Amino acid sequence: MTAAQQTIHVGGEWRAALSGAMREIIDPVDATPFEVVAEGGVADTDDAVAAARAAFDFGAWPRTPAAERAALLRRVAVLLERDRERIGALESRDAGKTLQEGRVDVDCVRDAFRYFADLVENEDGGGRAVDAGSDEIRSVVVHEPVGVCALITPWNYPLLQASWKIAPALAAGNTFVIKPSEITPLTTVVLVELLLEAGLPLGAANIVTGPGDTVGARLAEHPQVDLVSFTGGLISGTKVARSAADSVKKVALELGGKNPNVVFADACSTPEGFDTAVDQALNAAFIHSGQVCSAGSRLIIEEPLRDRFVAELSRRAELIRLGRGTDAGVECGPLVSAAQLARTEAYVASALAEGAALRAGGGRPAGPGYFFRPTVLDRCHRGMRVVREEVFGPVLTVETFRTEEEAVALANDTEYGLAGAVWTSDEHRARRVAGLLRHGTVWINDFHPYLPQAEWGGFGKSGIGRELGPGGFAEYREAKHIYQNLAPRPVRWFAGTTAKG
Ligand code: NAD
Repeated sequence: MTAAQQTIHVGGEWRAALSGAMREIIDPVDATPFEVVAEGGVADTDDAVAAARAAFDFGAWPRTPAAERAALLRRVAVLLERDRERIGALESRDAGKTLQEGRVDVDCVRDAFRYFADLVENEDGGGRAVDAGSDEIRSVVVHEPVGVCALITPWNYPLLQASWKIAPALAAGNTFVIKPSEITPLTTVVLVELLLEAGLPLGAANIVTGPGDTVGARLAEHPQVDLVSFTGGLISGTKVARSAADSVKKVALELGGKNPNVVFADACSTPEGFDTAVDQALNAAFIHSGQVCSAGSRLIIEEPLRDRFVAELSRRAELIRLGRGTDAGVECGPLVSAAQLARTEAYVASALAEGAALRAGGGRPAGPGYFFRPTVLDRCHRGMRVVREEVFGPVLTVETFRTEEEAVALANDTEYGLAGAVWTSDEHRARRVAGLLRHGTVWINDFHPYLPQAEWGGFGKSGIGRELGPGGFAEYREAKHIYQNLAPRPVRWFAGTTAKG
């Protein structure tokens, strides 16, 4: 990795913050600093945008043929495979996830680079011919890179979220400035190193490590930025959208979720069905300590099944082994920060004050770090804050329904709309309910998988636009209609302008 503190990359040069400011990166397992990065500011951001602007307006990358852009993305995928263990371990330490999760993240990042390489290489570079209704007109719609992209990412999946933006941005021929979360910037710095090693022209990739309210805000408002793609919380996302509107730039927002996991009793009519639904409900809620935008944090279960299901779920939740993600047998790491821990504690306290019944967890284990025990809150209802708002911690709420209509109404009763699942053995019901859920991703008898080929994003306040898939690629391009008249002649709209003689 680049020298500590020189984590800002501008126009081909690694450097420290112009102000000299630095930030300690905290290991959430024991709450001690283990790395130092540059704390960039507005001046660093302006330099980075200027470098990306020059690289877009005059540099090689936007003029590089699609096949060569695809080849570079594939070289990045190979480098990610080469460095899988190193990067997976760094992500594990930085974000407090298990080593296995860190490895899976690197694999998913590799797959994103491969997917966008295939997508750009396989499309017809000549554009889409449009029938103008005349042999004298040649009309074609082509797609061009949007320009300088500002990419702002969160701390829960730092590398994965970066790749969902960087890979399509580069595939389309854009240049970019990325600002990773100030809490977990380390693997994004490594990814920029790999892009350079793979041969990306200098200036096409720039990174400014630093806070959201200075670096992030400046990127969102900067007049030389053409698009801002943001993944993070609703509050910061709203500010980004406001800035982007003031400067009329394209904006893509991937925000939070309050995701329902709807379980019908028929899904649990066999011992295997019951075991699978319980196991997946645990996974939905507690993987990465619930710090997942699509976490299945609302269990919505058919009333007669509730007691048996919640009892078994709670028993298993108590067995989840917490610890350092690289230690053998550890299944869950800590929360990412003291702030996230305090937030989780506050939500659980408010739920108990509002009448929820604690079935598992509910507090911190003994010892250092930002750990919180997987928590199951029964007897919850829509009026509770913990049911309406995104906790982003290992907290599962339980609500019940008696009819299919009630299940759908509960699942849709959220201002978000990122993802949700339905568990049933009835194929017709599965398709009916999936069709009625107002969420960007709906799983039937599963939870959490995504595909790079399929669009990811949210209804409602879960965001604007999509990542992944052809729709995610489209965010990074402008459509241009080229209309050619093969037999030009006067229009004669203005009779008085007719030529004399
Ligand atoms: P956050 O909003 O606090 O921060 C996200 C990023 O925005 C960080 O880089 C931060 O520095 C920056 N930022 C903060 N204020 C800003 C401002 N005023 N202007 C510009 N940038 C600013 O979010 P977080 O706590 O890092 O991440 C958790 C959130 O991200 C959750 O709400 C989660 O649901 C969401 N998320 C969504 C998805 C998705 O695909 N929809 C994926 C992962 C995370």
